[in-house]
Amino acid sequence: MADTKLPFNKKKIIEIAKSYPTPFHIYDEKAILDNARRLKKAFKDIYGFKEYFAVKALPNPFILKILKHEGFGADCSSLPELLLAEKVGIMGEDIMFSSNDTPAQEFVEAARLGAIINLDDITHIDFLEKSAGIPKLICFRYNPGKERTGNAIIGHPEEAKFGFTREQLLEGYAVAKERGVERFGLHAMVASNELDYKYIVQTAEMLFDLVVEIKQKLDINIEFVNIGGGIGIPEKPEQRPVPLQRIADGIKAAYEAKIVANKLDPVKLVMECGRLITGPYGYLITSVMHMKHIYKDYVGVDASAANLMRPGLYGAYHHITVLGKENAPLNHRYDVAGSLCENNDKFAIDRMLPKVEPGDYLAIHNTGAHGHAMGFNYNGKLRSAELLLRKDGSVEQIRRGETTDDYFATLNFDALDDFKLK
Ligand SMILES: *Cc1c(COP(=O)(O)O)cnc(C)c1O
Repeated sequence: MADTKLPFNKKKIIEIAKSYPTPFHIYDEKAILDNARRLKKAFKDIYGFKEYFAVKALPNPFILKILKHEGFGADCSSLPELLLAEKVGIMGEDIMFSSNDTPAQEFVEAARLGAIINLDDITHIDFLEKSAGIPKLICFRYNPGKERTGNAIIGHPEEAKFGFTREQLLEGYAVAKERGVERFGLHAMVASNELDYKYIVQTAEMLFDLVVEIKQKLDINIEFVNIGGGIGIPEKPEQRPVPLQRIADGIKAAYEAKIVANKLDPVKLVMECGRLITGPYGYLITSVMHMKHIYKDYVGVDASAANLMRPGLYGAYHHITVLGKENAPLNHRYDVAGSLCENNDKFAIDRMLPKVEPGDYLAIHNTGAHGHAMGFNYNGKLRSAELLLRKDGSVEQIRRGETTDDYFATLNFDALDDFKLK
């Protein structure tokens, strides 16, 4: 079952909340490190294995610094994400730039940093040539269309906006070679939050088959395949973590059967997971302000969808622990709601919890990826602080909470005084 044990108790949270008022996200450094090492261990026999952490999942430089120390690169898809990687000292081919619908300026910046540029569309070859020039190393994102079925978050490949068709892919490599590209990568990401390890292995198999075809048809050696992100994490208590060793073993077998058997040059395997790396190791801590009893029973907390949008956006399940009541019977049915003027601002619907009272602290699980990062300011809500629970049990604030000054920072009130009604 998913691990619903917490790395802190109520007493610790009360102490932390004296310095850092709720709501806040708190990340567990030790668990992130242990998990990073588990991944590396599982993939240790995979040729050239490297994980490029998907920055969008948790764009915090302190987290990136921890992951860099573990040998991870950064997967970026925008200018600010590139600059964030650079600030942490992640540069050159330790950056994978996997963007789509890309502005010219971002290609220029990626080229300046020497990042691996992963193109999302065949027309971007010309676009890149005009904006930043043709690099020596290039990667293309493949969309298998009808050949694969996707899943709920990312949808079916055929309906997805990403990547090259198969025909475009072959044409793209030929064109790139003609224009002077010397090194080639191949990328696909066809699943999101996928818990079936076989699906991930199938993506590697599909890419290895293409590597063989590209070699045979175009005499191009693919230097690496990037199987994308999208490895899932257990969210509901009855779900289990993806067996990483089985993914690695499956990939190794496919590599032998396809790359080695066809006597191809060695092909590195890389991935760009976000959720898998940090998702389970973050918690949104919020306190209960109000209990409301109308046609249903509501727990009104001081966080809102501005701090965690996934339940409202995808109906995602996030486990909730009422701190100090870990062993109490789950005999009350509640909707746990934030204060946005939107009825989908609910962290849980019809959730069985112990009896909740104002002043209780709730830990909302699995907020270490696509949590704080998806924050927004709608309704004048401010994004919370991010804290790091260090290995030694101390707590470090790694991002302060926003203030109303931040909210107003893009407005010019002096100009408002001079603004005449016509
Ligand atoms: C979002 C994204 C990722 C990371 O996805 P996770 O589900 O967090 O692993 C990786 N690569 C690309 C191109 C993405 O868009």
